[in-house]
Amino acid sequence: MIAGGGIAALEAALALSELAGARVSMTVLAPNDEFVYRPMTVREPFAYSAAARHPLASIVRDAGAGLVADELGWVEPGKQLVHTKGGMDLPYDALVLALGAKLRPRYAHAATIDDRRMDETLHGLVQDVEMGYVKTVAFVAPGRMAWPLPLYELALMTAGRAYDMNVNLEAAIVTPEDKPLAVFGQEVSDGVAALLAGKDITVITSGYAEVPAQGEVVVNPGERRLAPERVIALPELYGPSVRGLHVGEHGFIRVDKFCRVPNAGPVFAAGDAVDFPIKQGGVGAQQADVVAESIAQLAGVDIEPRAFNPVIHGVLLTDERPRYLAAKLTGGHGFVSQFSDTPIDGVTQKVAARYLAPYLETREGAVPA
Ligand SMILES: Cc1cc2nc3c(=O)[nH]c(=O)nc-3n(C[C@H](O)[C@H](O)[C@H](O)COP(=O)(O)OP(=O)(O)OC[C@H]3O[C@@H](n4cnc5c(N)ncnc54)[C@H](O)[C@@H]3O)c2cc1C
Repeated sequence: MIAGGGIAALEAALALSELAGARVSMTVLAPNDEFVYRPMTVREPFAYSAAARHPLASIVRDAGAGLVADELGWVEPGKQLVHTKGGMDLPYDALVLALGAKLRPRYAHAATIDDRRMDETLHGLVQDVEMGYVKTVAFVAPGRMAWPLPLYELALMTAGRAYDMNVNLEAAIVTPEDKPLAVFGQEVSDGVAALLAGKDITVITSGYAEVPAQGEVVVNPGERRLAPERVIALPELYGPSVRGLHVGEHGFIRVDKFCRVPNAGPVFAAGDAVDFPIKQGGVGAQQADVVAESIAQLAGVDIEPRAFNPVIHGVLLTDERPRYLAAKLTGGHGFVSQFSDTPIDGVTQKVAARYLAPYLETREGAVPA
């Protein structure tokens, strides 16, 4: 049983289908009709084509799984049962929780990035910048932020659009990171800092922002004050708080290095729902692959599951060509950091998922890189 219909769930289904084939019978439990390629929604406010959307049922079918259109309500690990919000009791031999995170706005006086309505939230702002009505914009990441890449992408694309329209835009990024995109390590931070400097975007690092009123940003420590006409903010993320399981801080699901939920029997978790500080599609897909190997072993496949050891790949969209980023992590910080004009390790897709990325490329209406 795979609960969820996003990147981690579909990667788990495709991986398990590849590794275990007919040894497993899979059910995907998810309420969404469509799988939306979330990373490409950042382009929508700039009047580029919409992010790719695929019918969930057809991907699930291609993975050889059945689909139950409902939501997980709670789990009874002792009985190996999932209870759905719609009232069904579904038994499982192994359960994968890939429920994602909940987005919550941190600031009342900012426009919060929400990929479900990216165009609606930000198209007006982009138009106001193009027309020269708005000349100062702050892009703010709260302390417990979501994946930060879109904030940088939006800042770069907005600045690029202003330049194209001969508008003098003052843009600033305020972030608690100690360097731009610090999770990717030094080389990437240096590369991104140079890109931002080239677009005259000010970056305030190690900064904790408050937005006490419209057009007012206070950055601590130091109470530095900015007065942007508009503020764009990343959301904060909260875990799914699954009833029946012990969850960690802010509702995220605790897992061991094989992405198994401790003391819950054959229950695994992957993706943004997991208590791992980096909430990224590629990282979630790697967790899903780890889970698939463990479940394949439980199903009798001769395989030695590998522990979760994340490598992060990113594709940074700008107003010009994309940049390719990579890092291998230790304790949340990159130790091998790469910044390049060309794809690194052959990764061209925004979500570096071993099974899902090539699968999506071969589908009709392939996802553009
Ligand atoms: C604007 C933006 C840009 C991004 N850019 C990148 C990028 O360039 N590269 C990258 O790798 N990542 C990027 N990310 C992050 C990436 O999209 C997420 O990390 C990824 O989507 C997490 O996958 P997930 O499957 O864990 O969760 P989600 O994609 O959130 O999917 C969760 C799924 O669970 C389902 N669900 C929720 N509750 C229940 C329930 N109770 N029962 C059953 N199903 C349920 C939902 O319907 C959904 O199908 C970006 C995110 C955003 C918002």
